[in-house]
Amino acid sequence: MDNTNCKLTFLGGAGTVTGSKTLVETSSYKVLIDCGLFQGLKELRNLNRTSLTIDPSKIDAIILTHAHLDHCGYIPVLVKNGFKGAIHCTSPTADLTEIILKDSAKIQEEDAARANKYHYTRHKKAKPLYTQEDVKQSLALIVRHNFLETVILDNSVKFKLYNNGHIIGSAFVELKVHDKTIVFSGDIGQSNPLLLYPPKKLKNADYIVMESTYGDRTHSVENVKDELCKVITDTYKKGGILMIPSFAVERTQELLYLIYQLRQEDCLPPIPVYLDSPMGINSTNVYDKYHELQNISHFEINRVYNDVKFISDPTASKAICLDNKPKIVLAGSGMIEGGRIIHYLNNHMGSKKNTLLFVGYQGEGTRGRAILKGSKEIKFYGEYHKVNCEIKSISSLSAHGDQNDIIAWLKNFNPAPKRIFLNHGEMHQTDALRVKIEFDLDWEVTIPKMFSEHVLE
Ligand SMILES: [Zn+2]
Repeated sequence: MDNTNCKLTFLGGAGTVTGSKTLVETSSYKVLIDCGLFQGLKELRNLNRTSLTIDPSKIDAIILTHAHLDHCGYIPVLVKNGFKGAIHCTSPTADLTEIILKDSAKIQEEDAARANKYHYTRHKKAKPLYTQEDVKQSLALIVRHNFLETVILDNSVKFKLYNNGHIIGSAFVELKVHDKTIVFSGDIGQSNPLLLYPPKKLKNADYIVMESTYGDRTHSVENVKDELCKVITDTYKKGGILMIPSFAVERTQELLYLIYQLRQEDCLPPIPVYLDSPMGINSTNVYDKYHELQNISHFEINRVYNDVKFISDPTASKAICLDNKPKIVLAGSGMIEGGRIIHYLNNHMGSKKNTLLFVGYQGEGTRGRAILKGSKEIKFYGEYHKVNCEIKSISSLSAHGDQNDIIAWLKNFNPAPKRIFLNHGEMHQTDALRVKIEFDLDWEVTIPKMFSEHVLE
């Protein structure tokens, strides 16, 4: 490598939507942008257990775009294997990363314990990918920054974080390496997010690394508020319970805000709202703490949460779950892979008067996907259970920008970058975005393969 060149290596999030990890190397410094866990299908998850192609102790720092597990969930593995550098991110990202990594370690530990108890594993003893102790050591390495603060890492490498409107604290990274500017988009949010400020715009970049998960989609123009109002009112009229499997970060807070707005407009019946999710409550507290990063006043944020009953205690949760009165319940997990939503389904999915409402993407192989596709029975607690309740879905509530949002954000870069790399997408998503960028912007596009290296001159 020439003295002023740098090299990108895609260690994850290439040809897949999880495991985001891009290494940037100069002759004197190595920084990893995001450090995500591979999730979903087994072949992908197995990648979390294969040995790393780089010695973690040789990586100088990590920059985190945001706290979703597919962007931060691998950090404890790196730390366990010798990474000792700083982990740079915004304060809300630091707080959410703590919640998300602790939950992830708990799941890893429980899975290993279950595998050992029932001997599912061919290995002698199943070990968790990481433990709470690994998480504790990881969190100690976090260094918090404000948006727009210039952070100098080395005499040739510095960076700034800009709001990208995806979840609270989420950022895109402007990385300056010698005389080159490389922008890492992170997950770009919608042009007009419900709670957050719109993504910042930049004019100059020599290279862009752009995530493409929603590169083939345009969000439908359904009126989310009207749809939500109808589902709530219809369920209430039947004397039913509205069960919403909800992701703890962003989706939960957006839904509570929409319910609040509907109440303000006098559109809703007097139906109580429960957030029955310890992780959802912890995440909501982070939203409350950084109210200035939201596009609504603190006064209003307080009013949004005034009307919600927060349920953390398992005994209280059980009592609410057994009660048959009409209510709205938000509970994890978002794809019905675990969490308290299962208890609600166990008690209320068998009755036609109740409704199960999906508000987010349901990954392949999940119970959520099976129900959404029309399965009349799903399995949990070792048995099949009938799905008799009403199934509804609102698809356009998304923290991701769609193809139009992505192209609009890219159009701010002028002149054109030398090259744009499209990562973090499945092939059909990435390829659809490539075609659109080539056609609309006439830019040079590269779709990097996993472990491929690219020297930037
Ligand atoms: Zn994300």
